[in-house]
This record gives sequence, C-alpha cells and structure tokens, in this order.
Amino acid sequence: MVRYAFILLLLITATTLSVSKNAREGFSFADADRLKPLEARLIQTIRPENCRSQHRIFTEKPHMAGSVRNYELAQHVAKQWKEYGLEDVELIEHPVYLPWPIRYEATLVGSNEKLSLKEDPIPQDKDSSNEDVGIPYCAYSADVDVTAPVVYVNSGNPEDYDLLAKRGVDVRGKIALARYSVPYSYRGFKALTAQRHGVAALLLYSDPAEDGFKKGDVYPWGPWGPESHLQRGGIVYDFNLPGDPRTPGWASVPGGRFFPAESAVSMPTVAAAPMSYKDARLLLEKMTGPAVPSEWQGGLPFSYRLGPTSDKLHLVIQNDKKVRSIWNVVGRLRGAERPNEWVILGNHRDAWVFGGVDPSSGSATLMETARAFGELKRSGWKPRRTLIFASWDAEEFTLTGSTEWGELEAERLQAGALAYLNVDSSASGNSFTAAAVPALANFLRDVARDVPDPSGGTIYDAWLRQTTDAKEAIDSKQPRVTTRLGSGSDYTVFLNFLGVPIADLTFDGPYGVYHSIYDSFTWVDRVGDPGYYYHAAMGRYWAVAALQLSECDYVPLDYAAYAQEVQSYLNETETAARRLGVDVDFSQVRDAAKLWEKNGHTALEVARKAVEAGDMARVERVHKGLMKVERALLDPEGLVGRPWFKHLIYAPRPTYKPLVLPALTEAIEARDQARAKFEIERLTRALKRAASVIEGL
Ligand SMILES: [Zn+2]
Repeated sequence: MVRYAFILLLLITATTLSVSKNAREGFSFADADRLKPLEARLIQTIRPENCRSQHRIFTEKPHMAGSVRNYELAQHVAKQWKEYGLEDVELIEHPVYLPWPIRYEATLVGSNEKLSLKEDPIPQDKDSSNEDVGIPYCAYSADVDVTAPVVYVNSGNPEDYDLLAKRGVDVRGKIALARYSVPYSYRGFKALTAQRHGVAALLLYSDPAEDGFKKGDVYPWGPWGPESHLQRGGIVYDFNLPGDPRTPGWASVPGGRFFPAESAVSMPTVAAAPMSYKDARLLLEKMTGPAVPSEWQGGLPFSYRLGPTSDKLHLVIQNDKKVRSIWNVVGRLRGAERPNEWVILGNHRDAWVFGGVDPSSGSATLMETARAFGELKRSGWKPRRTLIFASWDAEEFTLTGSTEWGELEAERLQAGALAYLNVDSSASGNSFTAAAVPALANFLRDVARDVPDPSGGTIYDAWLRQTTDAKEAIDSKQPRVTTRLGSGSDYTVFLNFLGVPIADLTFDGPYGVYHSIYDSFTWVDRVGDPGYYYHAAMGRYWAVAALQLSECDYVPLDYAAYAQEVQSYLNETETAARRLGVDVDFSQVRDAAKLWEKNGHTALEVARKAVEAGDMARVERVHKGLMKVERALLDPEGLVGRPWFKHLIYAPRPTYKPLVLPALTEAIEARDQARAKFEIERLTRALKRAASVIEGL
C-alpha cells in the first residue's frame, strides 16, 4: 500500500515537473533556463535568521503611524536599502488627517467601577510591559461624553438590530456592545450600522468564542488571545474612499489642496472603542432583559442577555483632530532594458503596537527580499524591468500611505505597472494563502512549484495538500487562489483605482492576538513561526515571483481564465436579478465576455509561438496588449456614490467582503431597473475594451 502510494507520488511529481518546464508562461525555453540559476541564488540568499533579526528591530517598540518610532524605522529601511544596493531610495512625506486618542474612560455609574480599557502585561513577554503602549482606540472615531445603559447587539450587523427591534429592545441613545465576529466583518461596517441605528456609542469587544480560550490555548501558551487582549483598528468608511479623507482621488503633498476631513464620505459620525472580554464581562453580567438567541451566546460562562444593563455606563472618548506627516519609503532596482515597466513589492510598516505579525513579519521579509536582490545585483545582474520596493505608512488608518503614493504616481503606474505584489503579514502560521486577480492565478501556482516549503517539497505541494484538506478544490486538483477580491490591505489603490493586476500573499495560521499588544516579537518567535522558516519561504516566493515578472518576454497574464471567471459572476448576477424581479438582458455582456475569453486565449497562444519563433516584435505587441487589459476594466466615472472605486469587476462591500460586478450588482440589489440597464451597458463596454486591447495581435 505504502509502496503504491510512493510510486504514484513519483509519477505525479514527474508529470508536474515536466509540465511546468515545458509551459513556463511568459518565457521562451532558453529564457526559462536562464532564470533557474537566478532563482536558486535568491532562494539561497534569503535566510530565516536574517528575517528574525530584522523582525526584532521592527517589533522592538510600538510604531504607530505618525509616531517618532515609525519615522525612525523609515530611516532604518532607507539606510539598509541603500546599503543593499537599491537605487533612488527616498522617504516620501504625505501630510494626512491622522487623529490620535487623548482620553478614553468608561465607568459604571452605580458601582463607580472603572473598566480598564487596556491590556495586562504578561511575564513571559517582556514587551507587553512596555510603558509606551498608547491608549487603545478605534481610529477616526467621533468624540463622545455620554452616560447611558448598554445593550448587547451581538455582531452589530443589520440583522442583529432587526432582531433587537423585534424583541422590543430600543437601542437609540444607548451604548451598543458588539463582538468582533466570525465570519469576519469589517469593524467599520459595524460602526456604520451602529450610526444608522442612532446608538450613542459603540464598544467592540473580542469574545473568547472568536479568538480566545474557546478556540484553544491562550498566549503565552498558545496562539489565542488572553483575557485582557483587545483589537484596535480603524472604523473609517474606506469602502467609500480610502486614503487621506481630505484628498479624494489626488495625493496629499505638503502645500497641496485639501478638503475639510469632516465632510468626507469616509468619516464616521459615531464614537467607538475597542474592549477586552475581561472588561466586556463586567457589562455582560449586568445585562437585564430577555436571554439571547443561542447563536448570540458567546464564550463566557453565563447566559448572555439582550440588555439594557442595570447600571449606566459613563463613557468618554476624545481624540485630537490632527494632521500628521507619514512616510513611505520607496527604493528600486532600475530596469536595464525597460526602466518604465514596473513590478512593485509592497508591505506596510506602521503597526497598532509592536506589529509582530501585522505587519512586521511582512516588513522583516521585505527587508530580506530586498537584500537578496541587492546581492544578485552585486554579482553583476540587472533586472530587465524596474523592481520597486515599498514600505508603506499608515495602512492601519485607512490604507493611507499606499493610496497616497498610488494617487501620486497614477500616470506612470497606469502606463507601466505589470503587477503589484502585496505582503501585509508574511507569517502567522504555515498555510500558504494567495489572493489575486484571476489573470495571475496560474502564474502564482507556477511560482509555487519553484520555491521550497519548510515542510519539505515545494510550496505548491503544501498548498495543494492544504487546499484538498479544506475540500474546496478537489475537483480542480490545483491549489486555490482566492480571486474574489474585497479590501483590507494596500493592494486596494492598485486594483480599484489604477487597474493594476494584484496579488496578496501570506502564510496563515491560528492567530488570536491581531491588533493587540500580544502581537509581538515573542508571539512570532515562540508561537507563530519559530525558526522564521515561513518568513524566509515567503521572501523566496515573493522574490521568485518578482524576478519572473521582471524578466519575462511577455507578461504571463491569463485573460481567458479571468473572462471565464467573470462569466460565472454573470451567471450568479443574472440569477440574483431574476430572484429580485429585475429584468435586464444579459446577452450582450455575455457575448463581450466570450469574445474577451477568446482573445485572452489567442493572445497567449500567439505569444508562445512568437517567442519560440524569435518574432520579438510580435511578442512585444502581445505584451503591451496584455498590460492594458486590467486598466480597461476601469470606468472613469467609478461606482455610484463612491467614484474613487473605478473597477467594474471587483469592489469591497462595507464589510470588506468582495462584491463582484459591483456597479451592476448594486443596481440589481437596489431593484433599480433603469440603473441596472445602464450598468449592464457600462460593463459590456468595459469587457469589449478588455477584449479589444488584445485583439488581432
Ligand atoms: Zn496589516
């Protein structure tokens, strides 16, 4: 039995290897072979122990956006990149609206009991007793000084408020206590929902059922959140507009043009604060009223009630309203042949506190990846295209740094960007996870075949095992790339505003300390990635992907796959339209998608033949065409009510969940017949554009 399995395994391995060798999309055979030693050198140069020592530098002190420490780290990044041999390394300043907390207090009126609103140090992690941990808060919260009873609103989603109304619980003017939820829903959506229901303020707490002891051992004994951990985070409505709220669609630069922040569509008018289950327990225990439905029961050992609390809470939330400077660091290796064609590798640097996983695991990996490319350059190699390394600031606020840079460089990015490769957190575990536009999915799988996994074999092997374990891709027999794209990290400006193909990469694992002080060096060193093997694996993967995009003869973007995927979105949307009684004709948009699929298929066939025949003029025509396709999916008018979002295939919902065919879907969900007709025409035009830029090559 074992033996059969072994032979079978050998056969499978042999087949996959030969397939991958013969079908390296984007390269002639000769060029693919030329690539091998370069890949091997990058893989060899990237070392786990270097990731670890960089990680310690980034996680040593809290480094929130706008802080002195985060500026020092920007200088550290720039200095190291120059030493590595990167070119044109610069710190780019953006003055942005970046409020910080001044006063956060919560006192139970009757008992005069104060909630702690902070986390307790633990002896096993000396960083947790750092004195410079600021006040935990929700960025862009409104201010409030209110005394009111508290009600429990479960996850704080619209259906939760509906249930409360049905049960006769009035939330208006009360303080709402909501738990962070699984499945994930962006806290900004909970804020928006609370705002719509007229609550006095929103408290967001981490229930042990989601990320605490109900899941397993808590830190320092395991990955889950201890009693007093709490989740900071922005509540900004960046599903309407990310980046500095004062500059919708253009960059914030010193001396530039600014609107008032308060009038921006991204600014909440509700006040919110994060809370631990240690604090929330004091409120939950004082709830009166009916018992909650069973789905609302959390992990604390008593029956939850809807509320209100028997005792009122005096809550004070006060923030400054300051503009602060943030600093992106950008460095490059200039392309020897095509300096204006760019491959961008980005990670954010700012953290809520120490940022053990989010984002300093990614920052450490970015440093080591940059160093490896510097070593390759020292050996005399130069990339064909320009590689850009970016350390973004203020991602945690409203994807601020990357958005401002994308707006600043919009023209050059739209003219020459091949792809943006994002790594926010590189490793909280060992499960490789990739999200990307469908055109990049096959490319990402191919890259995984070239990079070793710390568990043995390649990342492809481990990824495939994980995918089939999850019983999600048994039919496709290939690792799963998430192609439905929402929001939540720095790729947003590239995809939704600029039409640049994106990928977002991470090694995932059980991780209950997100945005808390326990997301630290020690958490990563002891729990998340002991030995830093997955940090290095991510660096190797990232480097090989960037190398291949930099060196290819034509960019390996598969638009037949993209168009097929869009056709499945059209099927879903048509079903939804029928269900909602919206009568729209899908025949034209379907024809456009089919033509796009055909042209996408032909483009790669033409390129493969031309590259083998040495017809480089033709290869070049295909390459230039492929680079235009994602851009063609943008519409300059953008989405209704949020014109910054210009992509017609993907946008985030307010929960950050992906919304496919956003303009059309929103029209259908609003049962707006006229708008649906308009949107289906707009989508048809976009798909026709996408087809036409790769036609007749
Ligand atoms: Zn992050």
